[in-house]
Amino acid sequence: LPEYAFIGRSNVGKSSLINMLTNRRNLAKTSGKPGKTQLINHFIINKNWYLVDLPGYGYAKVSKSAKKTFQKFITAYFSERKQLVSAFVLVDIRHEPQNIDLEFMQWLGENMIPFSIIFTKADKLKPKAIESHIIAYKNVLLETWEELPNYFITSSSKGVGKDDLLRFIDETNKNLTT
Ligand code: GDP
Repeated sequence: LPEYAFIGRSNVGKSSLINMLTNRRNLAKTSGKPGKTQLINHFIINKNWYLVDLPGYGYAKVSKSAKKTFQKFITAYFSERKQLVSAFVLVDIRHEPQNIDLEFMQWLGENMIPFSIIFTKADKLKPKAIESHIIAYKNVLLETWEELPNYFITSSSKGVGKDDLLRFIDETNKNLTT
């Protein structure tokens, strides 16, 4: 089955998003504490595709060797997964573009791994601010990318963005088989 990998900085709202997409509460454990998702979790959706929950990156308090281990782990995952169709890089809509995320997107690009961006926690900003933050992000991306990746705006606490994301994945899956 096709796989879609979800990844982002710790505390970006990945577990909450996964719970929203899978309709289950507390399936992926949410908490304010960074570092909860330690291993890869797979969720099968509609008997049709796998949602792959990758560990969060960018904890402030993690040692250099732990960072290396994480990098190796992620590199191994991305190089071995034949079924991987696309990655989703989660970014907190409230933050300015962060190097760690931009570098990760760069790395995906260099390794020819398609990705979309998911802006999370949209309920925390007013529509005007959302718009300006996205413009800022686009401007930074356009410094290195010719084309902008797809992006989605979500709020797990308000149920925003779920249908768009699921539709996008369904459409992508359809195109794989035709
Ligand atoms: P993870 O570490 O990336 O898995 O992040 P979590 O899903 O555990 O979320 C981290 C924190 O952000 C928790 O306190 C969540 O309740 C909160 N959070 C996650 N998604 C949203 C959202 O869409 N809106 C708001 N307001 N808070 C959120």
